[in-house]
Amino acid sequence: KVRVRFAPSPTGGLHLGGVRTVLFNYLFARQHNGDFVLRIEDTDQNRYVEGAEQYIIDCLNWCGLSPDEGPVNGGPFAPYRQSERKDNYRKYAEQLVKDGYAYYAFDSTAELEEQRQKFPNFRYGHENRSQLRNSLSLSEAETADLISQGVPHVVRIKVLPGETVHFHDMIRGHVSFETDLVDDKVLLKADGMPTYHLAVVVDDYLMQISHAFRGEEWLPSAPVHILLWEYLGWKKDMPEWVHLPLILKPDGNGKLSKRDGDRLGFPVYAMNWTDPKTGEITKGFREMGFLPQAFVNMLALLGWNDGTEQEIFNLDELVEKFSIERVSKSGAKFDIEKAKWFSHEYIKNAEVSAIRYHIQDDLENRGVVVKSEAYLDQVIGLVKDRMTYLQDFWEQASFFFEVPGHYDLDAVKPKWTEVKTDYFNKLIENYSAFSDDQWNPAELEVSFKALAEQSGLKIGDVMLPFRIMLVGGKFGPAVFDIASSLGKVETTRRIKNALI
Ligand code: GLU
Repeated sequence: KVRVRFAPSPTGGLHLGGVRTVLFNYLFARQHNGDFVLRIEDTDQNRYVEGAEQYIIDCLNWCGLSPDEGPVNGGPFAPYRQSERKDNYRKYAEQLVKDGYAYYAFDSTAELEEQRQKFPNFRYGHENRSQLRNSLSLSEAETADLISQGVPHVVRIKVLPGETVHFHDMIRGHVSFETDLVDDKVLLKADGMPTYHLAVVVDDYLMQISHAFRGEEWLPSAPVHILLWEYLGWKKDMPEWVHLPLILKPDGNGKLSKRDGDRLGFPVYAMNWTDPKTGEITKGFREMGFLPQAFVNMLALLGWNDGTEQEIFNLDELVEKFSIERVSKSGAKFDIEKAKWFSHEYIKNAEVSAIRYHIQDDLENRGVVVKSEAYLDQVIGLVKDRMTYLQDFWEQASFFFEVPGHYDLDAVKPKWTEVKTDYFNKLIENYSAFSDDQWNPAELEVSFKALAEQSGLKIGDVMLPFRIMLVGGKFGPAVFDIASSLGKVETTRRIKNALI
């Protein structure tokens, strides 16, 4: 049975790479009728950040990629927070020591620091472990003594030199590492907490994970994990590895990092993240005004495509078409223009009812009172194809709710004539005589054009001024659509106001 997991450490907001890992996990699980597990890897107390777990959960919900099992909804392998699974890990660490694959190390922080001072490239491992304080260099009696005295100690994996660790990665194919380069990583810390390396292996085993998706930045840790799977006697249950390519900065120059958001003036986080210590806010796609579907679609294409030119995929299509074989080995450049394009496409093609809710929120925050939902829907329908972000609504549509504060008539003033003033006064008269039935874009246009002809004016001469009178500036949807939506009273009033 396919079982996948997203295993974040709750250290802050989720950036694009993290959410893409969620997405690929989710798609793969759905496609194979498998289970998608959220496991919180919070064993490193020093890196724990208040609120980060909740943020991750909210983020998965916002994206519509909620897990089947996890700290919120529980599941057959609960608990799903490693800090609540502490008791599981020690026994496996002890087993490794007993079997000769790991050892106790008593070196104090000060002693290790001294080593680092002496040897800038210090690594705890086969070259020097016999000179350090551990159960391999000390006698059995000495070791037992130190332990019974309660001297703080960690458990380290014993990596044998001169071997090659091989494994298969579903994206990268055959991968190998020389153990000479792998140090004796700590597995269990002095406080009894496991490190990430031990916990990730134990939990992937206990939770029966079949495929482990994670970012390529974890590849260097893979040999330690493979050795642990072997040393614990679980090799036949080891998951398939899927190391996802990095997401690169737009210029391709290195990995996209959390800090790039500020530099690019564009979010790299899914949602706003407020650092609980400094109060500093890192901007997110949600608050920028992306629809979650647009965000998810954009992410899917960072490192994957279906082999055709198709770019717009809804979640069901992604579930159907996603394949690990088509995930690229090389990094995917984050493309801001493409991100904007996705956002625009999704808003433009959204049902009005699907975006009304977001826009109502925005209007409420601005204290704008909308006369009816039907009117709001009509306006949304008129402007949505002009919006890149949901937040653009007000900029594009404020004149539907408020009389423009300013008329940019300067643009047409030099060519203003008495004839034009007469034209608009006449237009007010004509329009005032319209019945409710006549008040529609087509009839408004016919009457507008007929009057221009009678007055000996070109349509172009009066069309732009008309728009400015209604909108305040040279933008917005078709002018007769605007007039039709504004209604007779408001349209004629705005023409009058502008003429004064
Ligand atoms: N806890 C690791 C992280 O923060 C998980 C890496 C993995 O999936 O093995 O990303």
